[in-house]
Amino acid sequence: MTKHIFVTGGVVSSLGKGLTSAAIGCILESCGLAVRMQKLDPYINVDPGTMNPYQHGEVYVLDDGSEMDLDLGHYERYTHAPLTADCNYTTGKIYQEIIRKERAGEYLGQTVQVIPHVTDEIKKAIDALRGDDVDVVITEIGGTVGDIESLPFLEAIRQYSLEKPAGDCLFLHLTLLVYLAASGELKTKPTQQSVGKLREIGIQPDILVCRTTQPMTDEMARKISLFCNVRLENVIEERDVAHTIYELPLMLERQGLHTLIGDRLGLKLPKADMSAWEELVETVIEVEEKDAIEIAVVGKYIELHDAYKSVYEALAHGGIRNRVPIKLRKLSSDEIAPENVAAELAGVHGICVPGGFGGRGIEGKVAAAQYARENDIPYFGLCYGLHMAVIEFARNVCGLDDANSTEIDPKTTHPVIGLLDEQSKITDMGGTMRLGAQRCTLTAGRARDAYGTDEVMERHRHRYEFNNEYREALESHGMAMTGICPDRDLVEIVEIPAHPWYVAVQFHPEFLSKPTRAHPLFRDFIAASVRCKHDREASGGDHSATSDTPRSASLDHSSES
Ligand code: GLN
Repeated sequence: MTKHIFVTGGVVSSLGKGLTSAAIGCILESCGLAVRMQKLDPYINVDPGTMNPYQHGEVYVLDDGSEMDLDLGHYERYTHAPLTADCNYTTGKIYQEIIRKERAGEYLGQTVQVIPHVTDEIKKAIDALRGDDVDVVITEIGGTVGDIESLPFLEAIRQYSLEKPAGDCLFLHLTLLVYLAASGELKTKPTQQSVGKLREIGIQPDILVCRTTQPMTDEMARKISLFCNVRLENVIEERDVAHTIYELPLMLERQGLHTLIGDRLGLKLPKADMSAWEELVETVIEVEEKDAIEIAVVGKYIELHDAYKSVYEALAHGGIRNRVPIKLRKLSSDEIAPENVAAELAGVHGICVPGGFGGRGIEGKVAAAQYARENDIPYFGLCYGLHMAVIEFARNVCGLDDANSTEIDPKTTHPVIGLLDEQSKITDMGGTMRLGAQRCTLTAGRARDAYGTDEVMERHRHRYEFNNEYREALESHGMAMTGICPDRDLVEIVEIPAHPWYVAVQFHPEFLSKPTRAHPLFRDFIAASVRCKHDREASGGDHSATSDTPRSASLDHSSES
C-alpha cells in the first residue's frame, strides 16, 4: 500500500524544499523502502524548457526526454527513484490536459472549475506515481504557502489526504526561523503565521522542519509546538550544513526524522544504513586545501549558480572521487576575448565549457577552447562546449576561417555545426529538441577509457549537430570522433588524442552524476586536472592560488534554489 508525504514550504522561497525532500527520500531508501519523488510547480509554463536560466536555473532532463525543474536533479542525486514525465507537473501542464478534455467534450456539458476539475487533475498526477512496488511517494509543492498560484495544489493535497485511509498521508512543512542579529534572537512568528495559513485551508502539518542558522533551543521548539499545534517531538531542526549539502540526510536521520515518518504512516522501519553518505561526507571533510585544483567554468549565465547546477555538482563529485577540493573560477564568456583569455585562464588546471544557446558570448567560449588546446590544459565541453571545440578546431587548425554553427551564423561558408534539416522551420519551441537518453557507441579514446565499455546511454538537449561533411577534414587534422550515435550516425564525442585530456560531448553527462558515484567523464576530467597541477608543480610553474581557497568554494555548495 503506497503512502504519501507532502512537502510544503513557508515564510520565504529558496528554503531548500527540493533538497529536504530529496534527503527524506534518501533516508527512507536507506531503510529499505521504495520511494518515488514528484514536484508540483504552480507556475503556468507547461515545463521549464522555454524559460530563461535567469528565471529558473538549469532545465533538468530525464531519460524519457522530459524537461524538468532542477529539483529533480536533487532527487536523482540523493535517491534511486526512477523519474519520468509524471514526476513534475506545472499549472500549465495540468490546464493543458483540462483544456484538451474540455474541447473534446469530455466534461459532458459541465462548467469546468478549479474544484473539482483542476484539483481532480492534480490528484490524478499524484496517483500516477502509486504502485504495488512503491512504499512512499514524496510530493513537493513548489512555491511558498500563501502564494495565489499554490492554492489549487494545496487544496488538492488536502482532498487527497481526506480521501485516503487515515494514516496514509503525512504533511511536512519546511519553514524558516528568522534570526535577528541585532538582538541575537531567533523569531518564530513567521513560522506561526505560515502554519496558520496552511491551517486556514485545512492542512495541519504533522512535522515541521525548521531551517535555521542558529541552534533551535528546547524552549523555542516548545513554543513552535504550542502555537503551531504540532507535537513537540515532530519539530525538527534543519541547521545550515557546515561542509557540504550531502550532510543533510545524515543531519535529519540523526534526529530520527525517518522514525517520526514511519510512526505517522504506520511503517515499520529498520535502522537506516547511511554508511555510503557518512563515507562521502568524511571525504569532503578530510580533503586537504593544499590539494585543491582550480577549474574554470566558462558560461553565459555564470552569475547564477543554479544555471549550471548539475555541472557544478558533477565537478564536485569528480573532486570527491579524486579526493581533491575543487575551486571554481566562474568566468562570463561575454567578458573573454582572444586578448584577455590568457590572463583570465592563467593558472587553472582544467577548463569546462557547459551547455548554452544563442550567439552571446560564444567567441569567449571559442577562445577558452583554443587556450585549453594550445596550452595542454584539460578541456571538457558539454553540448555547446562541443560545438565551441569543433568551431575552434575547424578555424584554427583546419584553416576554415569562418567556420561556425548555423545557430550563430546561418550564412557561414563552413557550417561545421548545423541542423539536420536546415530547411526546417522551428515553429514550436516546447519540447522539440533532440531530448533524452540516446545510444552512443564508443571507439578507443579517453571517453572509452573512462566508461570502460563500448556503448553508453546519455541524455541530450539540443537542436544542432556536428555536420558529418566536415568529419574527414577534422579527423585528418587530429580531432577524433570517438562516440557516435549508431541510430542516426551522429557525432556524440570529439577528442584530441595528442592533447593530455581534451574531450567534448554532445550530451549532458552532468545529469547522470551522483555524489556516491561520480560520472566517469567528470571523474577522469578531474583526474586529468590533478595531473595538470602536478606536472606544473614539478616544472615549477604552478602559480595558481590554492592556499587562499575557501572551502566554501570547493565542496560546499550549500546554496540552493
Ligand atoms: N545551442 C545548442 C543546440 O541547440 C546547444 C544546446 C545545449 O548546449 N544544451 O544545439
